[in-house]
Amino acid sequence: MKPAPFAYHAPDSLDAALELLASGNGTRVLAGGQSLVQAMKFRTDRPSALVDINRIPELETLEEREGELHIGALVRQQALLEEPLVAAGWPLLAAGARFVGYRETRRRGTVAGSLAFAAPWGELTAVVVALDAAIDVRSARGERSIRAREFFRGPHQTALEPGELIVSVRVPRPADGAGTGFQEVSARHRDYAQLAAAAVVLPDGAAELVLLCAASTPLRVDASGAVDDEHAIEELLAGIEPLDDVEASAAYRRRVAPVLARRALRDAAAGAKAGT
Ligand SMILES: Cc1cc2nc3c(=O)[nH]c(=O)nc-3n(C[C@H](O)[C@H](O)[C@H](O)COP(=O)(O)OP(=O)(O)OC[C@H]3O[C@@H](n4cnc5c(N)ncnc54)[C@H](O)[C@@H]3O)c2cc1C
Repeated sequence: MKPAPFAYHAPDSLDAALELLASGNGTRVLAGGQSLVQAMKFRTDRPSALVDINRIPELETLEEREGELHIGALVRQQALLEEPLVAAGWPLLAAGARFVGYRETRRRGTVAGSLAFAAPWGELTAVVVALDAAIDVRSARGERSIRAREFFRGPHQTALEPGELIVSVRVPRPADGAGTGFQEVSARHRDYAQLAAAAVVLPDGAAELVLLCAASTPLRVDASGAVDDEHAIEELLAGIEPLDDVEASAAYRRRVAPVLARRALRDAAAGAKAGT
């Protein structure tokens, strides 16, 4: 099927993009197009106008500033796998990105687009929550910063308001000696996640666990002290109410959640001990 008719704009400045986005609720950002174009072709999404941000060079930044990784809105998911800076300081971003689609889709799809799309199976949503990232947004009305932990409101629902554009994602460098781990299970290699677990463990045993598909948004669990304790992890996750959808049943997800949580925490703890 072909998309419903829409207007197309490709501004070359951020101000021009924000002005266009302020023009109406049916006007939407086009970044990598890997989710939006497909939805338009199926006509499950019918924006009246697209603002293509691909010609705005200032959105391409990927750099460390004052202990934070700044990921501009045009940074592609594949960059998380290829940039030595990311591997050196933020390995959890690379570990999660490895499960996002295929190399071909990651070369177009953006990190910011994944967060704005807020798919319940979107690996990077769990990773930015685990790393306590901030999402900087701008509109013609001004700018604000939203913690990733407050950004996701439900499947495909975020704290973004009409006319707002994510300009960058800021990810703090994990604390000294922190280790991280990411585990995922899917029906077939590269299918959408049935369940995933991201973990950050500190040398003192403090542990942050974030599960994907275990709730309608990335689910944070304080797993401090439970890292090597199978029963404690099972107890922590006993009350989860996972998604029940075409990828997997809630019952299946309930069974695999402690397994993946244990593995992600084990990997993170091994990294913490090694000081990576
Ligand atoms: C075959 C295939 C497999 C895939 N598998 C996975 C997977 O396993 N895991 C996964 O997480 N994703 C997967 N995806 C989706 C992919 O990662 C998309 O790239 C991502 O969901 C959206 O990023 P994008 O840059 O392509 O955004 P677009 O498709 O351009 O936009 C998506 C939505 O986000 C909004 N948006 C985009 N950028 C911004 C911004 N800067 N500010 C405000 N709003 C914005 C758009 O308006 C739109 O509503 C897959 C896609 C394909 C085609």
